[in-house]
Amino acid sequence: MSNWPVWLPIREDLRELTAYGAPQLEVPTRLNTNENPYGPSKALISDIAESLRTIAENLNRYPDRDALELRAALVSYVNGSCGVDLTVAQTWAANGSNEVIQQIFQAFGGHGRTALGFVPSYSMHSIIARTTGTNWIDGHRDSDFTLSASSAISQITQSRPHLVFVTSPNNPTGTAVSLETQEAIIKAAREIGALVVVDEAYAEFARAGTISAITLVTDHPNVLVTRTMSKAFAMAGTRLGYLLAHSSVVDALMIVRLPYHLSSVTQGVALTALKHTDELLATVDAIKVQRDRIANELRAMGYQPVPSDANFVLFGPLADAKATWAALLARGVLVRDVGLPGLLRVTAGTEAETTAFLEALEEISQETK
Ligand code: PMP
Repeated sequence: MSNWPVWLPIREDLRELTAYGAPQLEVPTRLNTNENPYGPSKALISDIAESLRTIAENLNRYPDRDALELRAALVSYVNGSCGVDLTVAQTWAANGSNEVIQQIFQAFGGHGRTALGFVPSYSMHSIIARTTGTNWIDGHRDSDFTLSASSAISQITQSRPHLVFVTSPNNPTGTAVSLETQEAIIKAAREIGALVVVDEAYAEFARAGTISAITLVTDHPNVLVTRTMSKAFAMAGTRLGYLLAHSSVVDALMIVRLPYHLSSVTQGVALTALKHTDELLATVDAIKVQRDRIANELRAMGYQPVPSDANFVLFGPLADAKATWAALLARGVLVRDVGLPGLLRVTAGTEAETTAFLEALEEISQETK
């Protein structure tokens, strides 16, 4: 956007940017922002309502600035699910992993510093880089969207960034990066004094055998792993993201965070949701079934879906992705145009939502290939 009013002293480096905006449309089948399609159970709703009553009684007070109880619950989930033994001091939480990422840029990026990511990947990494004045470098992936250790290392050695972003499973392509590749990237980064941020927003959906970068935190002080309750935990509306890293990283994030950044309401809802972890994560298997069904049926229709470890599938080739996107929308199905020519991304929904997508695509298939 460049038509700002002349009187507005907006920063020069923000003038050409536009606000992040995946369309939020009221349509029957919303498969465009990788949300979990399953709403909270009656039991969870009533537990949240109950906890909000106590929270409401104390809303004249600021929340726990350091969110200690919540961080303890998060690290206990991580320790149990990843087989590690991390501490509260190695755990951080903020309003969505987007805010965690912003705090990382505030503490370790900024003017005169450079961040490298391997695109296509999550667009907010480069957007937050720019809004924090950090120089961003678009690194690349192989033509099948995978990332090899040798390619990543040579890009790191060449551009010598302060921060390296690895999204695993990657958004929008869906594939996870192997632990060996991640470890090689982390070692190469360490040699030039760089931090590696592994964005694991979709970790819980990964195919069997995928090991989390959280298992590398104890041995590698330069790895920061971000996670979220927005996807597998079905809590996108709560806005709760978290991070596992060396305790010095957490100390640095505490310098840039705003005091009381996590409201009492957010902390209370997230804590209550974590008490229902097993029930919430039970949706993951059902979603993985629909994800694999999408890939199989797309293949049967003659498309080439990218192998996915996440709750979405990137697929093509499409003669005109924008036209297919519009034709699906006309049939009540909202998917995501991620700006990659000939490709669209669809979130795995409930069985009925997934069927609605597949049937709509089948209907328009003749025009789209
Ligand atoms: N990382 C990735 C890879 C994502 O796809 C998203 C959301 N789409 C986020 C981080 C941010 O999620 P949240 O702020 O809801 O935690």
